[in-house]
Amino acid sequence: MSELEARRGPLTASAAVHPALQPWEAAGGELRIGGQPVSALARRAGRTPFYAYDRAKIAQRVAHLRNALPPSVHLHYAIKANPMPAVIAELARLVDGVDVASGLELQAALDAGVNPAHVGFAGPGKTDAELTQAIAAGIVIELESVGEMRRAAAIARAQGVRPSVAVRVNPDFRLKGAGMHMAGGPSAFGVDAEAVPDLLAELAGLSLTFVGFHIFAGSQNLNAESLVQAEAAIVDLAIRLAEHAPAPVRHLNIGGGFGVPYFPKDVSLDLAAVGQALHPLAERVAHALPEARLVIELGRYLVAEAGVYLTRVIDRKVSRGQTYLVTDGGLHHHLAATGNFGQGIRRNFPVAVATRFDAPATETVSVVGCLCTPIDLLADKVTLPYAEPGDLIAIFQSGAYGFSASPRDFLSHPQPAQLLV
Ligand SMILES: *Cc1c(COP(=O)(O)O)cnc(C)c1O
Repeated sequence: MSELEARRGPLTASAAVHPALQPWEAAGGELRIGGQPVSALARRAGRTPFYAYDRAKIAQRVAHLRNALPPSVHLHYAIKANPMPAVIAELARLVDGVDVASGLELQAALDAGVNPAHVGFAGPGKTDAELTQAIAAGIVIELESVGEMRRAAAIARAQGVRPSVAVRVNPDFRLKGAGMHMAGGPSAFGVDAEAVPDLLAELAGLSLTFVGFHIFAGSQNLNAESLVQAEAAIVDLAIRLAEHAPAPVRHLNIGGGFGVPYFPKDVSLDLAAVGQALHPLAERVAHALPEARLVIELGRYLVAEAGVYLTRVIDRKVSRGQTYLVTDGGLHHHLAATGNFGQGIRRNFPVAVATRFDAPATETVSVVGCLCTPIDLLADKVTLPYAEPGDLIAIFQSGAYGFSASPRDFLSHPQPAQLLV
């Protein structure tokens, strides 16, 4: 029996403690985040629901990565996972650069003090206004198409500058294995690998400085073997394409895609295995592309497990034998937890009664939000300790794609607070 199970009292088999809950501590029966009991945090937030992000857990995650990855690998934070300014500022101190995907994310990165040379801007459909911002800021523009390259060159010429650009590549290889969506097919993202040589030939004559490549294979991969395969294939591709480049590769972003366990059968990524495999790969890069800064970009892996969404029980009701805990939160704050953020099948995020964190789980309930739609289901038939109005429900693994990836105006309820503690 783990220490946590011992503290939480006897659990039924169906209520086995989710591994995601294990790193979290209780004090006086309550979940603590950043050393503080959740009820104190709720008072500090001034309202419920709220997101709480644990600063120490973010730092621990970065330290863990530094330990596992070769020292020549540069870590970037993909801001879209969690753009809270305080989170960006915290990570800006800890990582080597950031990736942005909009003009406002770019501004947030610069506001946080990130060195513009270590900011990459990827994403299809960059507007002329965004390209102008990026060029003025002196960041690396990751070109998604020939058309975007020409527009960037025209803006640069008008400003009389030569911005740094990298080419985002849509890979041409197929990879078997879980998680990665890398079929070698058509994509809105990047330039098809086979079209890159022609694009590079044209780039050489434009008012642009070629600095490298960006090759992103996909997200939420928990399988170390398939991640390692993808990384190796990406490095191969970059080395092949570099032969056509008008200048040495100085920036090589090989993507990321490190996944986070959300659901009961998910197993945490074997980071040690990924790190092991990266050592020879980093050596290969150092040999073949000696000027390249090798970058791995991570979003959710840095922040998801450090964040908890907390919502208060407003009502407890029984309908034809099923108990519902009705909360003041829901889908409008945390779309992903309701299974509506691109997931195929709805499964429960790890959940607990935060104000009775060490009480035994005794009943099966469904936790719903306050929206008038049946899809506003935060946890379907989960076994929890008895809870009643006033209790706080915690949804874990909520530090990424929560607040900013939810339709917060839907049904015109108040916005959730966010705390970094
Ligand atoms: C979304 C995105 C990321 C971050 O993905 P995570 O799964 O959060 O790590 C990184 N790079 C690019 C290009 C992206 O679009």
